[in-house]
Amino acid sequence: MARDDSYLRIETVTKRFGSVTAVDQVDLSIGTGEFFSLLGPSGCGKTTLLRMLAGFETPDVGEIYIDGAPVSGTPPHMRPTNMVFQNYAIFPHLNVERNVAYGLRKEKLGREEETRRVNEALEMVKLGGYGQRKSNELSGGQRQRIALARALIRRPKVLLLDEPLGALDKKLRTEMQIELRQLQQSLGVTFVFVTHDQEEAMTLSDRIAVMAHGKALQVASPKEIYNDPTDMTVADFIGQMNFLEASVREVSGDQAILDAAGFGAIKAPARRPYVQKSARLIAALRPEKLTLSESAPEGGANSVRGKIEAAAYLGDRSHFHVRVDGLEQPIAVAGPDEQPGGGSLAEGAPVWLSWSDEAVILLERDRG
Ligand code: ATP
Repeated sequence: MARDDSYLRIETVTKRFGSVTAVDQVDLSIGTGEFFSLLGPSGCGKTTLLRMLAGFETPDVGEIYIDGAPVSGTPPHMRPTNMVFQNYAIFPHLNVERNVAYGLRKEKLGREEETRRVNEALEMVKLGGYGQRKSNELSGGQRQRIALARALIRRPKVLLLDEPLGALDKKLRTEMQIELRQLQQSLGVTFVFVTHDQEEAMTLSDRIAVMAHGKALQVASPKEIYNDPTDMTVADFIGQMNFLEASVREVSGDQAILDAAGFGAIKAPARRPYVQKSARLIAALRPEKLTLSESAPEGGANSVRGKIEAAAYLGDRSHFHVRVDGLEQPIAVAGPDEQPGGGSLAEGAPVWLSWSDEAVILLERDRG
């Protein structure tokens, strides 16, 4: 089947609860077979958006289309979607088989067909043979798989998952992430996954919508969101970032020269329309894009002097805080703690920071 990139279309959707705008003019499309995440802090509107896809809420403004048809008047059980909740509501008095068969209660199937579908769903989530187990005899991860099986048994085209791994401990959560991704790929079902955990969204997703205050700030692949954030809130929310106040001195072709606080004159790519002469912007630099050295880098371009204020050894890499004159906040740097020449970077040591032009991301100041 050819991929339909707008199988799910959310068109300028707004949802208010009293004076709270939970979802604010969200406009995005999700393709068939895509693993799509809604990522953002608590209260940003991701669950409300998911519930509108499921049909538990109706948009105040805008429309949701599934496979080209508007669905606002369509109740949840008539949609090709099914939802998995965080507190997965497993019935303790029912065995695994009955819990999973519960997903079929609206479909009037014969006993034989029902058993076949239950077994098929249990196989999908690697719980084949567990049908007769009492559900309170299972681990957290196994219970989460029952919830998945119960949602998948209806053979939805879209699975909506609301923080499904939120109740699991870190190790189990990582294991289940891998399983979820494998399951999604083998079934080819579209997953819309809600999480506030950026690492989880980055690991699992084909694309992510980063949300804040009801808005989808950026919709892109994990790589793009990390390497090329288009918004300060996104840049701040994903990974670690150093932010410098900067003003544009001049733009020539696709390169700009800026005066950046503490760093002096810096060069940066000028690919975005707001990079104009005299504009006051934010220059953002990821910690791992900065290099530390004990002596001045050759040529001296894109470098600044500082002093190591704190160093933390993490085994495979180290984190440093470097104090630069004229800046309130220290600059965060990530990299090896050994110098190529054998020297090590200790607290209090004077250092040089250097970076490439391409490492600088120019962002508009947050208007919020
Ligand atoms: P969390 O991760 O905490 O679930 P979220 O990003 O999923 O957060 P939502 O649950 O969608 O956020 O909530 C968005 C905003 O809408 C919040 O301010 C919330 O208090 C409000 N809200 C959500 N549902 C309702 C409701 N039924 N009645 C009133 N306000 C609501």
